[in-house]
Amino acid sequence: MQLSLALDDRPLLPRIRDRLLARLGPRRDGRRRDPVSQLVRSMLGSKTRDEVARRIFRELRRRYPSWDGLGEASPRAILRIIWPVNLAEPKAEQLPQALRMIVACTGRLGLDHLADLDEEAAMQWLRRLPGVGSKIAAAVLNFSTLRRRALVVDTHLLRLGGRLGLLPLDADYDAGYEQLMRQLPDAWDADDLAELHRLMKLLGQTICTAHAPACGACPLRDLCPRCGV
Ligand code: SF4
Repeated sequence: MQLSLALDDRPLLPRIRDRLLARLGPRRDGRRRDPVSQLVRSMLGSKTRDEVARRIFRELRRRYPSWDGLGEASPRAILRIIWPVNLAEPKAEQLPQALRMIVACTGRLGLDHLADLDEEAAMQWLRRLPGVGSKIAAAVLNFSTLRRRALVVDTHLLRLGGRLGLLPLDADYDAGYEQLMRQLPDAWDADDLAELHRLMKLLGQTICTAHAPACGACPLRDLCPRCGV
């Protein structure tokens, strides 16, 4: 085992994935939302804890069984529901604006047309929506039923990428997305990218945390320039 690790001269990301899979196990989630629902969920979830965003998304869905209704709702009415998420006020403005912009551009509230664009063009299309940057655009493409090859680079992946030498320490979401996408093996498909996101995020939440990384317990410590083991 030690010999095979020492001789492993593959690029860093495949080695990281193997280590995380061995430690954390497969993270293949079969559930996928339609793209508009994923957009709403991802916009709510930005800078917000997962359990809060999940709860508020369910409540929003209950109040607006059709997203058309959310697009027509006033920011004030939306704020009364989504206030527990971070940045609730701008999100209450941006959510209906984004939904109305989709209708204005495509004639209906749907994002299925993105399936006909290549990934870069689809990312650019989504980034034009209010409140949507690289992280949310990639989540819509990768996590939804569109199942496209786009890595969701959130704050955990930025931090891990910086510490592991995959990214500059000051990379933002756009730079993190561009640079990590370039390092992914061509053979990895959308499900592989979704799994990589979940594995790295879980490590970031549990071991490689923002303020107290537990390097001694980390399965990546001998790959990590910061740790120096
Ligand atoms: S060795 Fe430490 S700094 Fe490096 S990835 Fe693991 S926890 Fe993070």
